[in-house]
Amino acid sequence: IFAGVALAPRDPILGLNEAYNADARATKVNLGVGVYFDENGKIPLLSAVKVAEKARLEAMPPRGYQAIEGNAQYNQAVQKLLLGADSELLAAGRVVTAQALGGTGALKIGADFLKGLKADAKVYISDPSWENHRALFEAAGFVVENYPYYDAETRGVNFAAMKAFLLGLAPGSVIVLHACCHNPTGADMSDAQWAEVVEVCRERALVPFLDMAYQGFAEGIEPDAVAVRLFSASGLQFFVSSSFSKSFSLYGERVGALSIITADKDESARVLSQLKRVIRTNYSNPPIHGGAVVAAVLSSPELRQMWEDELGGMRVRIRAMREGLVSALKSKGVAQDFSFVTAQRGMFSYTGLSAAQVEVLRADYGIYAVSTGRICLAALNQNNLAYVADAIAEVVKG
Ligand code: PMP
Repeated sequence: IFAGVALAPRDPILGLNEAYNADARATKVNLGVGVYFDENGKIPLLSAVKVAEKARLEAMPPRGYQAIEGNAQYNQAVQKLLLGADSELLAAGRVVTAQALGGTGALKIGADFLKGLKADAKVYISDPSWENHRALFEAAGFVVENYPYYDAETRGVNFAAMKAFLLGLAPGSVIVLHACCHNPTGADMSDAQWAEVVEVCRERALVPFLDMAYQGFAEGIEPDAVAVRLFSASGLQFFVSSSFSKSFSLYGERVGALSIITADKDESARVLSQLKRVIRTNYSNPPIHGGAVVAAVLSSPELRQMWEDELGGMRVRIRAMREGLVSALKSKGVAQDFSFVTAQRGMFSYTGLSAAQVEVLRADYGIYAVSTGRICLAALNQNNLAYVADAIAEVVKG
């Protein structure tokens, strides 16, 4: 049966983890994986999550099947975070939300649903993008192409090229947009540019698919939702995949959601009925625990405040690491201006380090980064910052 099975290529980032784990050097640092580590280099378990989990453990609730679209209280909490508590779309019944297996699961059910709806549409992702975007939409049967996004010269978004490209797309094309904290570059569009993207989507009748994996990691819950809010105000229909993997530090619990903004209540009922078919044939219904914990936190004013404070702490720490890295590189006499690192948002930075330089970091220093030069700032802390800055300084000075 399996004689003809070819060996698939290793996932580049998970492969990096394996190499890191096998490295015996005590000073090794893993800047590859997109996970938030605290000042002690640990994945935090948030206090708000602990309180909610303790209450669940004490209540010992039964474990029947969930509804196909998941936990209703959770789905409503997701909608309010994305669209705002007083969203007119919610009042008008224009939002369909299904709990999903992380942001990845949300993208997957969104892609499968779209394939049933627009089989011949092409999907466009940013150049570069999170590497799984292409794989996910291709696996759903779509042809996937890039739209221009990152400008290595300015270390920002090449908005003119992006907009010109989008204006040339066929109506019905699906365009995947990083709602905030672009992965891998850390380069986001300005609010004014987002407003232009909304108008291009309207003009060219594109299908916007916003991927929101890092709400709260740039400026805060509300400001990070600006792209979603501009699309909501536009009257257009669109998709949003969202994830609590990072913002709740619940990576392995797989808590995300797919939200679809429709034209009206009647459309919502029909869209939900089809989305439920997609879910039913994928995994039937989502698991209980992660969604229940997030719902409990978001529906209790005290726990929600606790969570926002903890999320704020993560955001502030990442920013401090960005600033620390830039000033350490400067003080080590690096001539190149690295101040762009503080302008980038979210967990990642496209450092501009070449694949060869990344390889020297690994071989000589046990510092692991993605070969594209992407590093995760959330893996830095006061203990390893000077070491990493020293190594980068040596590598860029040649
Ligand atoms: N979209 C983007 C842009 C991401 O960076 C990630 C996580 N790395 C995801 C989606 C998937 O999130 P999750 O881990 O919740 O599946």
